[in-house]
Amino acid sequence: MCPRRALRTVKESVMQDHRKLGRELELFHSDPLVGAGLPIWLPRGAAARRAVEEYLLDLERRHGYQHVYSPPLAKAEMYYRSGHLPHYADDMFPPMVLGDDDAFVLRPSLCPHHAAVFAARGRSYRELPLRIGEIGGQYRAERSGVLGGLSRVRAISLNDGHVFCAEDQVEAEILAALRVMREAHAALGFQPASWRLSLRGEGPKYVDDPPMWARATAVLRGALEAAGVAYVEAEGEAAFYGPKIDIQLRDYAGRESTLATVQVDYFMPARFDLSYVDVDGSRRRPVMVHRSAAGSMERLFAHLIEVHDGAFPAWFAPVQVEVLPVGEASGRAFADECRAIGIRVRDSYSGSLAARIREASLRRVPFVAVLGANELASGSVSLRSRDGSVSSLPVASALALLSAACSSPQRPARR
Ligand SMILES: [Zn+2]
Repeated sequence: MCPRRALRTVKESVMQDHRKLGRELELFHSDPLVGAGLPIWLPRGAAARRAVEEYLLDLERRHGYQHVYSPPLAKAEMYYRSGHLPHYADDMFPPMVLGDDDAFVLRPSLCPHHAAVFAARGRSYRELPLRIGEIGGQYRAERSGVLGGLSRVRAISLNDGHVFCAEDQVEAEILAALRVMREAHAALGFQPASWRLSLRGEGPKYVDDPPMWARATAVLRGALEAAGVAYVEAEGEAAFYGPKIDIQLRDYAGRESTLATVQVDYFMPARFDLSYVDVDGSRRRPVMVHRSAAGSMERLFAHLIEVHDGAFPAWFAPVQVEVLPVGEASGRAFADECRAIGIRVRDSYSGSLAARIREASLRRVPFVAVLGANELASGSVSLRSRDGSVSSLPVASALALLSAACSSPQRPARR
């Protein structure tokens, strides 16, 4: 066994159930009155999620994505057209009928809305590849027995994206999507358990067009070979419209689930009659590459909570600095200075200093700043990091250090 594998096995064996940690760290809450599979993100969980979402949107912008907003429901007719109602209805909430108007459905995916973005006006080959991204809601009618914490939910917030491109751009776009994914996973501090090429199975669930499946599968296989990653093939795990590359995670109990994915789709562009004007003036059908770099925010955080044991990297920790003054006056100004440069800070005044340090440690806060009479007199701060190291620094140096340590990976330090 290689050392890296041994290390990962040890880490997995001490992973805790994210539901327990999520409760203890006040990250999210499940209320029976709201319903199973509909978790509420509490302020601490929401702060961490917001930081991750902002990072992902920045990352995608750097890789040429343009972001959109689209509503989380649409006319049922759109989902007949997309193939979801014919092939995927068992996983969808039933249509809602509004008076004499059409029936509406909570969307099972964002793909048709993004197809509508492409179709919003005429397109030229010069615009391709057109990369559209959104962190948006989609819904899955899971049975209550399979729901658990954040890992399986009914309301899903997906880091989604669709690339509309020419046939000869598909492989490069898949490879580019895999690069975005790897960059995101490294920044978030985890490695996938495995890579999977998910292929069609038998039955009416899959669109019946063997040449289309063969073409899409060959493109994905070629991209996996070009990316040089080891992967397994799994029949019966494809989307109904096409095969996909799935990035698998393993949870605290050793169960596998899919986080990120890249899919090649020749089906939906035809169903929505998408086209662009090519260099010779002819109309051509784009290919749609569906991809999610970080999956749903729910499943991503289920994994992040477990893999980090709740001790998130400082850039997305809910509280980045806990300011513990000894005496009222000494801490407020420093906490305010931290806030002013965008650091998520909490100042705590009640209880003994030892109890407050212990509390911050239980909350996995990355930095604790202690300000007592000595610090006040010398204009310094005693800074403790989560690894146990302690240093006494002038206030300006402490702010610069914290700013750099708490910034998102690709962003310059705030000061
Ligand atoms: Zn899609």
